[in-house]
Amino acid sequence: MNIILLGPPGAGKGTQAARLEQGRGMVQLSTGDMLRAAVAAGTEIGLKAKAVMDAGELVSDDIVTGILSHRLDQDDVERGFILDGYPRTDAQARSLDRLLGQKGMKLNHVIELRVDEDALVDRITGRFSCAKCGEGYHERYKQPMIPTLCDVCGSEQFRRRPDDNEETVRNRMAEYRAKTQPILPYYESRDLIRRVDGMAPIDDVTHQIAAILDAR
Ligand code: ADP
Ligand code: ADP
Ligand code: ZN
Repeated sequence: MNIILLGPPGAGKGTQAARLEQGRGMVQLSTGDMLRAAVAAGTEIGLKAKAVMDAGELVSDDIVTGILSHRLDQDDVERGFILDGYPRTDAQARSLDRLLGQKGMKLNHVIELRVDEDALVDRITGRFSCAKCGEGYHERYKQPMIPTLCDVCGSEQFRRRPDDNEETVRNRMAEYRAKTQPILPYYESRDLIRRVDGMAPIDDVTHQIAAILDAR
């Protein structure tokens, strides 16, 4: 089973992808995580991407498609993958089809997380994650059980993304509206779109997605 999670920044893609990874052994493919790893490693791609990401704009299709293509060559994707944050443009949607065709893979569902834009700034500015294992949290919607310790690994170190501030989020939302939303009809015409209410509590959204994946 190979799926795309589609939705604006803060819609819950990363949260749900992590749950699918744990619950079903699928592999989360987050182009945002891949780019942040390149930035942290100081690679040439990372150096190019950093300023663009900090501004809340989209990294070039060539760069992002290049790193995704590499990632799809690893064996673990045969367990089924969850694309989180790709494709984000029409060109990326077409590149994805080409890549999957070359590799003999196919898409089963494109799950659109539908959310109110008003909620997104709040979700993003309250977001943080464990610096050690990456588990995601929110100041109000998903606090660690013990406030100073990660539920998963017990680390006391948390971090925030530099682009998770209100100004950058507004740019990211505008990019989503202008460039990503228009790719929905491309998948709609192939009957791949499944809609989920992303405003529901986290567990509820997980159940909605499970119902889609388990339907036959
Ligand atoms: P995305 O990957 O789509 O940008 P995240 O999964 O990182 O979004 O979620 C953004 C923030 O909102 C995180 O802090 C997360 O804990 C929180 N969050 C995710 N889903 C929900 C939800 N259904 N209700 C409330 N908060 C949520
Ligand atoms: P979010 O889920 O909060 O929108 P991501 O972690 O997916 O954030 O992406 C962070 C940033 O990385 C984006 O704002 C963009 O600059 C860059 N990025 C990630 N994926 C892509 C992509 N498929 N195409 C272009 N830029 C991307
Ligand atoms: Zn942790």
